[in-house]
Amino acid sequence: MSLQLYNTLSGKKEEFIPLRGKQVGMYVCGPTVYNYFHIGNARPFLVFEVLRRYLKYKNYDVTYVSNFTDIDDKVINKAKEMGCTYSEVADRFIKEYFQDADYLNIGRADFYPRATEHIADIIGLIQRLEEKGFTYVVEGDVFYDISNFKEYGKLSKQNLDEIKIGARIELDERKKNPYDFVLWKKAKEGEPKWDSPWGAGRPGWHVECSAMSAKFLGESFDIHAGGEDLIFPHHENEIAQSEAASGKIFAKYWMHNGYLKIDNRKMSKSLGNILTIRELSQKYDGSVMRHFLLSAHYRSPLNYSLEQMEQSKNSMETLNNTVYNFNFILKKNLGNSATDRKSKKLSDTVDEMVEEFNAAMDDDFNTPKALSTLYLLAREANIYLNEVPDKNKEVVKKVLQFYKDFGTTILGLKYLSELDEQEQISKEDIEQLIEKRERARKNKDWQVADQIRDKLNSLGVIIEDTAEGARWKKH
Ligand SMILES: [Zn+2]
Repeated sequence: MSLQLYNTLSGKKEEFIPLRGKQVGMYVCGPTVYNYFHIGNARPFLVFEVLRRYLKYKNYDVTYVSNFTDIDDKVINKAKEMGCTYSEVADRFIKEYFQDADYLNIGRADFYPRATEHIADIIGLIQRLEEKGFTYVVEGDVFYDISNFKEYGKLSKQNLDEIKIGARIELDERKKNPYDFVLWKKAKEGEPKWDSPWGAGRPGWHVECSAMSAKFLGESFDIHAGGEDLIFPHHENEIAQSEAASGKIFAKYWMHNGYLKIDNRKMSKSLGNILTIRELSQKYDGSVMRHFLLSAHYRSPLNYSLEQMEQSKNSMETLNNTVYNFNFILKKNLGNSATDRKSKKLSDTVDEMVEEFNAAMDDDFNTPKALSTLYLLAREANIYLNEVPDKNKEVVKKVLQFYKDFGTTILGLKYLSELDEQEQISKEDIEQLIEKRERARKNKDWQVADQIRDKLNSLGVIIEDTAEGARWKKH
């Protein structure tokens, strides 16, 4: 079967046919870097990067771009709060972003453009829109005039008269139409600014993504993705800008993930229930968190609760144990005649699971169903383990290869037991854990600190706490 993806633009599942053969361009809206990212932000970053892994497995050559919004009101306000420059805020939280992304094992994008590094591209795009009559200027602010873009609203399919003007639509009497939006903002006193044909100022949010995606992926590319809260107005505005400027289709497939809830309630500042990945990383192994984020279909809402996390923990434990046991018996002197009935049956099950995994992912990227193949195989594998005295080496290897190719390479799950058994912990992993322990100690979180020390000990890493910080050695 071919890969089918749900396209928000058409409102249905479509066969995935890239614009340029095996070359695929993918753009995922990244964070505004003024804070640690929360579990709701993590969902698009993680799930769409799994889609990229799957496309690679299907032999597509993927260029993956994710931006950092490093200038906007939130960044500027944070700089005031912290008493530093806006770029220091951005640098700091980009660093924090990578630390949390590594904890979740989110693969690196090919490009991470920052808005302030592409001011000339952004100005160029606004100029093209100006030449084509899509803009107007009021007191140094440049606005996009949606009345000239006839297809405005085609992504969100909302009746524009019914969209509530409020949080997402800035009420500004200088606008011709309430849905017009700012492309270039005139500088306010004391704020960072760049020169432009319209005077000193800074870019609006929507125009960044249009300019930077075109720069790295061309005017038309394959997949544009993000959380469903970005459909309107952010992605609708990106389409209006990009398609008005180029006269071409902007992105062919628009993919959006569903909301993340906390105990069935919306996550919000006012409810005080925002959970950052940094906080969660003190409680859960990265693969447990990852498992949780993949445990619902990306378009469905996902609910965080202690019970859900407990389930993900148990599920990971099942996988960890299976991989551990299979690695363990592989070290024994196993026979190689793949003829007995039970070995053949297990070998056939692996083949079936490969097919089921692919069918699930091909059907609009159904990760919960894909995950279930890992357990179905675990069940059969454990029966084999208990019932067959002379295990077959090739079949044992085949099972492990399945967990590696589909669990680790595509879904990004790391099996703890495999790490322990093979002592394959890298220098970077050790240093990351030590850093995490140092932070826990600073926060007087002794239990976490001790757990990390014990884990490192079990991997043969000895920590010595010195006046200059922790030192480690392997024995
Ligand atoms: Zn964007």
